[in-house]
Amino acid sequence: MPASSNDTPDRPPGRRLVVAVDGPSGSGKSSVSREVAARLGLRYLDTGAMYRALTWWVLAQGVDPADQPTVARLARELPLEIGTSTESTLLTVDGQDLTAAVREPRISAVVSAIATNLDVRAELIRRQRALIAEEDRGIVVEGRDITTVVAPDADARVLLTASELARLGRRALEVHGRDDDAAIAATRDQVVRRDAQDATVADFLEAGEGVTVIDSSEMSFEETVDAVLAVVGRVGADR
Ligand code: C5P
Repeated sequence: MPASSNDTPDRPPGRRLVVAVDGPSGSGKSSVSREVAARLGLRYLDTGAMYRALTWWVLAQGVDPADQPTVARLARELPLEIGTSTESTLLTVDGQDLTAAVREPRISAVVSAIATNLDVRAELIRRQRALIAEEDRGIVVEGRDITTVVAPDADARVLLTASELARLGRRALEVHGRDDDAAIAATRDQVVRRDAQDATVADFLEAGEGVTVIDSSEMSFEETVDAVLAVVGRVGADR
């Protein structure tokens, strides 16, 4: 029987591949994961966007992010739609397009307070697993706890890191369009404080057993994509 168009060249027909990528902010994991998924013909899930969408919803409802029971209830009720295509960035809550809004600094400033609520995590992890399960084409999933909690049995697991300076520089360029000292100082809270707070509930600063570490500090985007593809390729060879 001919392989269907859903099958990547390296994958036997019918076998779904799950690739898990974790890393701190500014490690490049979103753009690298999306590109890896596109090259392999897989779906792509940005789990950080789900925490960001919930944060937007909590603020839009005028709820205090520190009110844990109410925030957990909003997580369970969240009317979220998230796309898993590598080409589009569908992200809506209650029908409202949040693609740009969730990137605003006011969301980045509060998202860790939402993501450290353990009832919120239980709900979003449940939704993430359901999204992974429904993708029979295979999927690249990225976040903070994918290799360890959401999909510890993924076929390939990668921790993408980079030095603090490299991460600050990348985020400064992304948010401010420049990476001079002032832009880096303005980005520091978003990157360093957020990672420290996030690390209290998800272990993404050190690799779990069987997780391959890729340090992208000195790598170009292309080189980083190739390094992740090489990890996935090794898995393919072992199966
Ligand atoms: O990856 P991104 O920076 O968009 O993630 C936003 C926030 O979502 C993180 O700072 C973290 O608080 C939370 N997050 C998480 N677990 C994930 C993905 C994101 O706690 N798997």
